[in-house]
Amino acid sequence: MMMSCKEITRLISISQDRKLALPERMQMKFHTMMCSSCANVNKQLGFIRKAGKDQANGGSLDRPTIVPKSE
Ligand SMILES: [Zn+2]
Repeated sequence: MMMSCKEITRLISISQDRKLALPERMQMKFHTMMCSSCANVNKQLGFIRKAGKDQANGGSLDRPTIVPKSE
């Protein structure tokens, strides 16, 4: 079964904090391969995380606001 964009973006956001279970990672990978919108979120979150690491003032970047396109 296919996960929705909403679930995938949630997984992506969780994956920034901790390691996902293998099935979750596979769902995420598969979905982002098919869905450019979620692939974009994945890319941006990775970027934000990288940028956040460089900044010493952690906090506001902990929870980026994600708006899935499928509303
Ligand atoms: Zn998607």
